[in-house]
Amino acid sequence: MIGKCLICNQKDANQTNSHLIPSFLVAMTTSYDGSYKRGKELMFTIGPYQRRVYTGALPDTKLGEIFDPISDDRIENELSKNTVALDYIFCSGCEQNLSKYLETPYSANLLRNQKVDNEIPLLFWISVVWRMSIGGNNGFKLPVNIENTLHGYLKQYFAIKKGEYDISFTDFIKEVKFYYKILHCKDYSKDNAGMIYCQYDESNNILTMFLGDICICFMFDSDNLPENYKFYGLESYIRNAEINSGNDKEKRQDINIETYKKAIELFVKQSTRILVSGDLQIMDKLWIESGRLRYMPLRMKMTFLRLLHDDSIKLGEVNTPQRYVDIFNTLNDNILLWYLNCL
Ligand SMILES: [Zn+2]
Repeated sequence: MIGKCLICNQKDANQTNSHLIPSFLVAMTTSYDGSYKRGKELMFTIGPYQRRVYTGALPDTKLGEIFDPISDDRIENELSKNTVALDYIFCSGCEQNLSKYLETPYSANLLRNQKVDNEIPLLFWISVVWRMSIGGNNGFKLPVNIENTLHGYLKQYFAIKKGEYDISFTDFIKEVKFYYKILHCKDYSKDNAGMIYCQYDESNNILTMFLGDICICFMFDSDNLPENYKFYGLESYIRNAEINSGNDKEKRQDINIETYKKAIELFVKQSTRILVSGDLQIMDKLWIESGRLRYMPLRMKMTFLRLLHDDSIKLGEVNTPQRYVDIFNTLNDNILLWYLNCL
């Protein structure tokens, strides 16, 4: 059964493939050839228990570099599914409003420096943060009262745009409590693996994201960053960046590639620990499911990790559920393999 559109709350949510993160941002972050174009996306979605790959419309030659021969089942159930899009949450009218009023002008501004009205970037980011939060699969969930407030701003904005609500944008923006700072490392994702990562600091009510070439920090209470705010070594740059609140053109602080790269490397280092700990928990789960008690022996785990991250395995095949099962069976059948290996 189709529910009501989450934006207008009136029409049926008949739209499929609604992007929680606008497609031009995903393309900017994940295009495999650095073209920032749609249809070139290669996106790995990684969580402690989740490893998925979305391949957009990758050519067969590129697919061959990343995967072993792929089953139709895997294409249908994993590779063709955009992990940052959902079906049946919006109506086609609201989807068009997002595209026409916000995404098209903002992408032209960010990528080609075209001028836009001052309120557009603010409302664009409100729509992105709200969509990502209600999607619930982007590494954060805002409190319901904040989600409702952001939704209210968006609804009101569309009403003004369509002439249903008579107030000037300047007066409207004065009521909006949503502030953000942007660091921009232009072209970073052209030569480096782009990344989307969100961190919501509940105690300070601040959301910070790596989003391809952009690092963006959103504040919902006030335009001040607290003393204890931290984000992978970029905090002083974020602190010094100018605040955006829709009253002026969007101000982005340029940041050089070395500094941005260092922050992302620090993030990767810290998140690797989380991923390894997720792998270790999966191993214990396999151990218990096979009828054993307590935990998989440490030596077996060490060999498991070594086999899992074998360099000869193609990138798209490393973390499939079948590989975990196959490695487990191999180690079960060859006790000496792991027992002697780690002596
Ligand atoms: Zn709608």
